[in-house]
Amino acid sequence: MPKIITKLRKTNFLTPSGLRCLANLPTVNISAGCVHNCLYCYTKGYSVYPGDGSIEIYENMAERIADEIKRKRKKPAAVYFCPSCDPFQPVSQIQQIVFDVMKTLLKNDIGVQFVTKGVISDEIFELFEEHNSKVAGQVGLTTMDDKILSVIEPVAAKAKDRIDQLERLIEIGVKASVRCDPLIHNVTDIDKQLDDLFSAIAEAGCRDAAVSYLFLRPAIISSFKKNITNVDALDEILKPFSQGVNLSIGLKNSMGKMLPLEVRKSSFERIRGIANNHGIKIHICGCKNHDITNESCYITREPENFQDRLFLD
Ligand code: SF4
Repeated sequence: MPKIITKLRKTNFLTPSGLRCLANLPTVNISAGCVHNCLYCYTKGYSVYPGDGSIEIYENMAERIADEIKRKRKKPAAVYFCPSCDPFQPVSQIQQIVFDVMKTLLKNDIGVQFVTKGVISDEIFELFEEHNSKVAGQVGLTTMDDKILSVIEPVAAKAKDRIDQLERLIEIGVKASVRCDPLIHNVTDIDKQLDDLFSAIAEAGCRDAAVSYLFLRPAIISSFKKNITNVDALDEILKPFSQGVNLSIGLKNSMGKMLPLEVRKSSFERIRGIANNHGIKIHICGCKNHDITNESCYITREPENFQDRLFLD
């Protein structure tokens, strides 16, 4: 069980994100820290990261967001969940807060956009179905191999469960796609792995997938070293970065070490070919691969009634 620290917060919860691809929507973090504890999680290096196994939640979030919305002269078209945690973590307090906040937004005609590797509750599915034209989401999944997932994303949902949820989202009319990010070179991007993954995505009725590769920072390297005790496996993951490049990763002043340009270029072409065989269009994340493309990975969608001034009080 994670250690849950509850707090009250006086400042606004709906905030602009520093991430370039999220610049158009206000965002909300349901918790500081995330119980999914993915090895590669970029928030591990943040000053507010409470440490593996701990999360901080705000008891007054739903109530304060309702108040923030009331005070806005112009409501945002949609809110994005969550730049630094997963909205559907297996913690009952978080599930309740997320439900209350999403319900408040949707009842106020404000859309909900999200990315998740977690388990979405039936209650949330019912809410999404009722407001399907206002909901868009990405399901994060890089492999159908649960053995690999149990190491790199130890508390997230199993692969098949994520695929089933993707299918259910599409069935209820939610705009849903897959986020294959971060792929790990020579581990989750081998042809057989990709073929299984895109085959499952296609069977779920999905035709779009965003792709990108793992990037490294000191906190992420430490996390891999701490959790992968098999020296050969660790070497397989880290070695391709020895010739890597330092790139900004879509966040102001934020750098990460990416695989060499040629490795990413040829890998993306190979991935595109395998995805095409299954009728899936891939979108390379241009924020983390701006030396290759400025393509959007559609982490957010343009809401139909998009308003251009989102943060007016
Ligand atoms: S689900 Fe996302 S936010 Fe949560 S630990 Fe994994 S990468 Fe980090």
